[in-house]
Amino acid sequence: MSIPVALPDLSSAPSVRTEIPGPISRAIHERRMRTVARGVGSVLPVYIEYADGPWVTDVDGNRFLDLGSGIGVTTIGHGNPAVTAAAVEQLELVTHTLFTVTPYEGYVRLAERLAEKTPGDHEKRSVFVNSGAEAVENAVKIARRYTGRRAVAALDHAFHGRTNLTLAMNHKAAYGTGFGPFAPDIHRVPNSYPYRDGLTGEQAAQRTIAHLEQRIGVTDLAALIAEPIQGEGGFVVPAEGYLPALQEWCTRNGVVFIADEIQTGLGRTGTWFASERFGLVPDLVLTAKGIAAGLPLAGVTGRAEIMDAPDPGGLGGTFGGNPVSIASALAVFDELEHGDHFAEALRIGGRLQHHLTDLASRHPLIGDVRGMGAMYAFELSEPGTSLPASGAASAIAAFAAQHGILLLTAGSDSNVIRFLPTLTTTDDQIDIAMDVIDRALTTLG
Ligand SMILES: *Cc1c(COP(=O)(O)O)cnc(C)c1O
Repeated sequence: MSIPVALPDLSSAPSVRTEIPGPISRAIHERRMRTVARGVGSVLPVYIEYADGPWVTDVDGNRFLDLGSGIGVTTIGHGNPAVTAAAVEQLELVTHTLFTVTPYEGYVRLAERLAEKTPGDHEKRSVFVNSGAEAVENAVKIARRYTGRRAVAALDHAFHGRTNLTLAMNHKAAYGTGFGPFAPDIHRVPNSYPYRDGLTGEQAAQRTIAHLEQRIGVTDLAALIAEPIQGEGGFVVPAEGYLPALQEWCTRNGVVFIADEIQTGLGRTGTWFASERFGLVPDLVLTAKGIAAGLPLAGVTGRAEIMDAPDPGGLGGTFGGNPVSIASALAVFDELEHGDHFAEALRIGGRLQHHLTDLASRHPLIGDVRGMGAMYAFELSEPGTSLPASGAASAIAAFAAQHGILLLTAGSDSNVIRFLPTLTTTDDQIDIAMDVIDRALTTLG
């Protein structure tokens, strides 16, 4: 669809002109139900025509403040001009040759940038693929090839994707219902969830390690994969010291420690990678979502000796490391390096924390407020308990949508509202959104 002739006024508040979804969206939705597979859901079937900065505008002319950024993808804002220019320039030069047939320099440059910015000053290598799940798949392949071991451990409340292997790694069974059989040798072990388990990082790590040693056995374990802050699981921030203890245990036992930074990475938490906030130097770091500001790209970056374990031909794929996606990613790296995005992420985090703490003091449904930088959430519990309040999160998101605010839910119990705003979101815009959420919570009583 073409860009509307009269661009919306981007400075002011959300603008809801029709019922949500509006009539044009509803008409498209009817066609969609006859042609698009039912298994592809849409949380809010408003059909988007145009996006800029923190705003998305639908086909009915409703403009929403997007506090989800397509699940943490357009971190530096929708339609970042530098990224668009880089992608257009690359489109005109060459769109595809396949790196494993005839390579191009951009791939090498992005590998250099990732080697520079991922934690640790050891020698590193990268491989690029198309999606987060594919990055997880490749990390597992590489770890198995390197260690010669088969088992892989993931944490409770983890989410790693929708391919067959990653379905076996997810906490939430609903992602995989009816899609088995699933890959063998995948294990899930307890995580650190301070709000629910009340454990210190050290206690939670001891519990996780006991499971690893007793239920899997070190000699069979190729890799442990962890999201530094769990994304779909509900922005679960582990207790201090938990992740470093796991990493230390992995290093001591020859287990590859994989940080899934697909949702947390690239400026989101106010540093290049959330691992830095936890003092982690992972063996492998996974990137996707925000890396190319919306173009499909994902990467596995890590220790040279591990990454180089597969023989030539062992890694790759037709579209992996597409030149246009790579050019966009290089522009994202330039933006993050030269802009003040990290400070903006921290500003946003501070504003969210301030408001959410205030809301929690007035609305007993809010049991916990947590996050880092522009990755914040609140968990809804039955008042006075830490038992999940069912239905409240989706009710708040629905209320917000009617008022022009796009919110995402999360959590294994779907009782978390998470914020993944673009780093271009202003304090005023956050204030407007928080007022809507305040009213939604009041409505819920
Ligand atoms: C989204 C996500 C994935 C899967 O990425 P896709 O690009 O959807 O395959 C994996 N891990 C985490 C932490 C994610 O947030």
